[in-house]
Amino acid sequence: MKAQAISNEYLTEALRGAEVRPSTARVHVLKYLLEQRNHPTIDQIYRALRETLPSLSRTSVYNTVGALQQAGLVRALTMEGNEMRYDAFTEDHGHFKCERCGAILDFDADLSAIGAAGIKGSVVTKRDVLLWGLCPACAK
Ligand SMILES: [Zn+2]
Ligand SMILES: [Zn+2]
Repeated sequence: MKAQAISNEYLTEALRGAEVRPSTARVHVLKYLLEQRNHPTIDQIYRALRETLPSLSRTSVYNTVGALQQAGLVRALTMEGNEMRYDAFTEDHGHFKCERCGAILDFDADLSAIGAAGIKGSVVTKRDVLLWGLCPACAK
């Protein structure tokens, strides 16, 4: 996925729209997630941003991601053990994890078409499509 520059105005508006105060840490974390779309761990976000934001700690990244998650701007994803990855791309899509290099790639998927067929009386609150395999680089 290509990195795409996202303006601070857009980020500030997105945060305000979700009723989250646009603090510097929140703007930077959301920007990183939207631009990279690499489904990072807390540690990866911390290592990527600590030079730009020297006051940042792992705990503040954790708390920032938590606030964004609560506001519905970020969702957590678990594809291996209890390793949490984060995603700010909220439109419907599925996830493909490369079993060799660990990359998690997005693919287009219409999740609304998937229901809990056969589970009578159930209510679906969350949808996810997960695939595992080899990414294009590793499959070569
Ligand atoms: Zn790979
Ligand atoms: Zn994703």
